[in-house]
Amino acid sequence: MSVKRLTGGYTITAGGRTQPLKLTTTRAGYGVRYWYCCPCCGRRCAVLYVTHQQVACRQCCGLHYASQSESTQERMMRSVYRRRLALWGRFEPLSVLGLLPMSPYLFMKPPRMHWQTFEARRGEVMDYERRFWKVEKAILTRLFTNHDGAR
Ligand SMILES: [Zn+2]
Repeated sequence: MSVKRLTGGYTITAGGRTQPLKLTTTRAGYGVRYWYCCPCCGRRCAVLYVTHQQVACRQCCGLHYASQSESTQERMMRSVYRRRLALWGRFEPLSVLGLLPMSPYLFMKPPRMHWQTFEARRGEVMDYERRFWKVEKAILTRLFTNHDGAR
C-alpha cells in the first residue's frame, strides 16, 4: 500500500488499484479537524480500512456492526489526534489522521519549549499510541481474516 501527495489531494494505492483520496474539514475547538472522504461512498470518516480489494470506510468494507473494540479504537484514535495537536499544533493532515504513518519521533520540538518538558510530553503521547496500535492491530488482523474467509 502507498499514499501519494498531489496538489489538492492524495492518491492511495492498495492491491494494485489507485484511488483518489480526498480530505475534508470541519470546524473544531482548536481550529480545523481533518477527515477522509471514503473513496467508495464519499462519506466523511475518521478511519479508513485497507483490505486486499479496496480502501474504504467501515460501512463499505462490510463492517456494519459496531463492535466494542471498534468503538474503543475510534475513541483512542480521536485521543491520539488530540494529544498530538495539543503538543504540536497543526501539521500535515496525513501525519495526524487515520493511517498515522509518521512516528511522533519525527516531529520537531515546539519552539521555546524546554527539551525536558518536550521529551516528557512526547513520551506520554508515545505510550498512548503504543496502546492504540495494539487495539488497531487486533482489529486489522480480524478484518483480514474475515475477508480471507469470505472469498
Ligand atoms: Zn464508504
